Amino acid sequence: MSVLVVGSVALDSVETPFGKADNVVGGSGTFFSAAASLLAPVQLVGVVGDDYPLEQLEPLRQRGVDMAGLEQVAGESFRWRGRYRHDLNSAETLETHLGVFSHFSPKIPPQFRTAPFVFLANIDPRLQLDVLQQVERPKLVACDTMNFWIESRRPDILELIKHVDLITLNDGEARQLTDCYNLVKAARWIMERGPKLVIIKKGEHGAFMFRDRHVFFAPAYPLEDVFDPTGAGDSFAGGFMGYIAQTGDLSDANLRRAVVVGSAMGSFAVEKFSVQRLVEISKQDVESRVAEFRRLVAFEQEGALVS
Ligand code: AMP
Repeated sequence: MSVLVVGSVALDSVETPFGKADNVVGGSGTFFSAAASLLAPVQLVGVVGDDYPLEQLEPLRQRGVDMAGLEQVAGESFRWRGRYRHDLNSAETLETHLGVFSHFSPKIPPQFRTAPFVFLANIDPRLQLDVLQQVERPKLVACDTMNFWIESRRPDILELIKHVDLITLNDGEARQLTDCYNLVKAARWIMERGPKLVIIKKGEHGAFMFRDRHVFFAPAYPLEDVFDPTGAGDSFAGGFMGYIAQTGDLSDANLRRAVVVGSAMGSFAVEKFSVQRLVEISKQDVESRVAEFRRLVAFEQEGALVS
């Protein structure tokens, strides 16, 4: 089954303690597509300007990303400039230029409207709402957002969450949106306003999935070398949604597996700049990393541990 994504298709300039990249392929829709396409067919909706190096998206097309919904119009592409200092968990945004996204009105091609799984990647929540008007009863709708939009378009985000099944946020964003420092309370605050499922990511400290009164936790893969954290969150979402689309199974056990696949995908994204690592890995690489996640948390219990 396919997954439809609308999100930013950007040119990123990123500085980390390990190096610098200028105007490389990035964006929430792009990272999501690079990760999800390893698992399921992806339909990408977004816009780029006439300055965008479309040929650099070719590896994604070859992976099965359908770009019939990616428009190219006159003007400048979305650009984001960010920096990570020694805390690789949080990006410092230096510049955001919406460019052609400021006048974008997503048009979902008719053949995409029946996609069973929809991901509203981080982008103006008014565009996320607009997409929801155009799709026909998906099985699962998920969304993401970030501090930039929580600050500037909070009422639209509150409207959006009434209409989604799942929201993914990092811990800082969850606290900012809800004004609750405690993440269990923050998740509950969100669930009371719409989503049945809330995933709160904590960077190198793993991710929580909340559903009703249940919580599931998956660690992050303890990588020795994190090169560039940009796109980890979108790649997590791509792994999660790609796995759900591949299996079509929304049971609790499968949602838990999807969190682990998402964590595995996020861990690959940060090994190189841009989508470089995501486009070179194979299904077998994902399979092996998921197996390592199992070993990471497994232990034997023989009788009572405390006596
Ligand atoms: P993350 O997965 O959270 O690290 O997302 C990183 C990506 O988000 C980068 O490739 C940026 O191009 C993109 N991005 C940054 N700011 C925004 C924004 N305000 N709206 C949409 N996308 C953004």
